Amino acid sequence: MSEPADLVVVGAGPAGMAAAVTALAGGLRVVLVDSGPAVGGQFWRHPPEHARVAIPTGDLHHGLREYLALCAALSAGRAAGRLDLRLAHHVWSAVRDDEFAVHAADRREAPRERPVVLRAPRLLVATGAYDRQLPFPGWDLPGVLTIGGLQALLKGGGVAAGSRVALGGTGPFLLPVAAGLAARGIAVVTVCEAADPRAWLRHPGALLRNPGKWAEGAGYAAVLARHRVPVRPRTAITGAEGGERVTSVRIASLTSDGSPRPGTERRVEVDAVGVGWGFAPQLDLLLPFGCELTDSADGNAVVAVDDGQRTTVPGLYAAGEACGVGGAPLAVAEGRLAAESVLADSGAAPALSRKSLVRARATVARQRAFARAMSMAHPVPAAWSSWLTDETVVCRCEEVTAGAVRAACAEGGAHDHRQVKQLTRAGMGWCQGRMCGPAVHCLAAQKRAYVPAERLVATPVTLGALAQLDE
Ligand SMILES: Cc1cc2nc3c(=O)[nH]c(=O)nc-3n(C[C@H](O)[C@H](O)[C@H](O)COP(=O)(O)OP(=O)(O)OC[C@H]3O[C@@H](n4cnc5c(N)ncnc54)[C@H](O)[C@@H]3O)c2cc1C
Repeated sequence: MSEPADLVVVGAGPAGMAAAVTALAGGLRVVLVDSGPAVGGQFWRHPPEHARVAIPTGDLHHGLREYLALCAALSAGRAAGRLDLRLAHHVWSAVRDDEFAVHAADRREAPRERPVVLRAPRLLVATGAYDRQLPFPGWDLPGVLTIGGLQALLKGGGVAAGSRVALGGTGPFLLPVAAGLAARGIAVVTVCEAADPRAWLRHPGALLRNPGKWAEGAGYAAVLARHRVPVRPRTAITGAEGGERVTSVRIASLTSDGSPRPGTERRVEVDAVGVGWGFAPQLDLLLPFGCELTDSADGNAVVAVDDGQRTTVPGLYAAGEACGVGGAPLAVAEGRLAAESVLADSGAAPALSRKSLVRARATVARQRAFARAMSMAHPVPAAWSSWLTDETVVCRCEEVTAGAVRAACAEGGAHDHRQVKQLTRAGMGWCQGRMCGPAVHCLAAQKRAYVPAERLVATPVTLGALAQLDE
């Protein structure tokens, strides 16, 4: 693309793809950046282009027609010279002076990396979310993965992490992962859902307005029934055991506050485990701008946006899971609305017809209601920390134990994860608190939503790349 861009979109998942396509349809010149090797994000993660025939993953995907239409529109944008698609570019910082400057590390020739600065008067952040984890004894053993990690191996490489797998945590995401593994002949020996499914009955409106979600759930339930996969409600994986890798998990029924019910604990032999407690929005690039945040119902702070996906910082827009976890159809609709706002704010004509705009707004309202109901029906159990011993490692990078975190709170007076970090180094390692941050926040007895620590550098970047920057 020879002319300057009108818009940089960071994140080429469902939200970023839909936003870029809508902005292109409105005549804008767009840069679309993603750290991954292909567009699609988490929901439409595929094997690398050259391996797609050898590794069939079609049954793991939904909404492929939409994905293919978005891919075709992006290709047309590139052919017309109005889309600059930057894959394998990890954005490590974004700043604003008279326009936005987005700093990325070009990792197409990794481990070598090259600095790239992408500029535009408007920036749309659609960086998605990552798995929320809670520590438990043994969670740092090889073979214990996040549930999203298990799925990424399956969708991205056709690889199953084990042959006898236990899944645990909470939320509907457990079901597609269990079904995907079972359909490939993997023994899914238990699916431990901490929540009580009857909690959904308190949200009949959200359920009735989203019949598609039910149909999807019923599809997974049928696969699980066919493969005789036991799904255990009000149950959790409270420990993992093994030597060089995990060989068994301890599971227990939970009381209403999430404490293990005495006498129900039992051991299940496994060679891999996947655990997930919902998702945490990826706010790294947004926090340094100082945009307003708001509480979502699931314990996370998310970026506050108006009904056109504008943040409180002029020229800065957000769409998808960064605005609250709610699934791919919601992310797509928000991406479209965000791009419409960019067009309106740039003085360009709308790209969506009136009918499509109304439909996108209705989708957002409906899916947000569903997401709120989902958060309330699948909370993090209040007493989860009773599963931890003082020796359980909470921050894996810096090897900080639950005992050290508890001491920092009780004796050191720490009352949030930042103070715990100062006293114990929890959250100071390679992952910068992405893994342990939500857990340390809960252990510090915080009732407020979790706000990750602000980081000016969102991903480790080499000194070599920084030295090549000429500004
Ligand atoms: C591991 C995982 C697996 C999931 N699987 C499913 C599923 O099977 N079904 C389902 O309904 N929902 C799934 N979800 C929820 C899912 O995130 C949403 O449904 C949907 O993908 C959200 O779309 P999005 O565009 O907001 O974010 P994403 O799809 O997460 O896309 C965000 C994109 O931003 C990129 N990115 C992030 N930070 C940077 C950066 N600094 N620089 C450059 N690029 C960046 C990422 O590489 C990613 O491609 C999953 C979530 C996770 C975390």
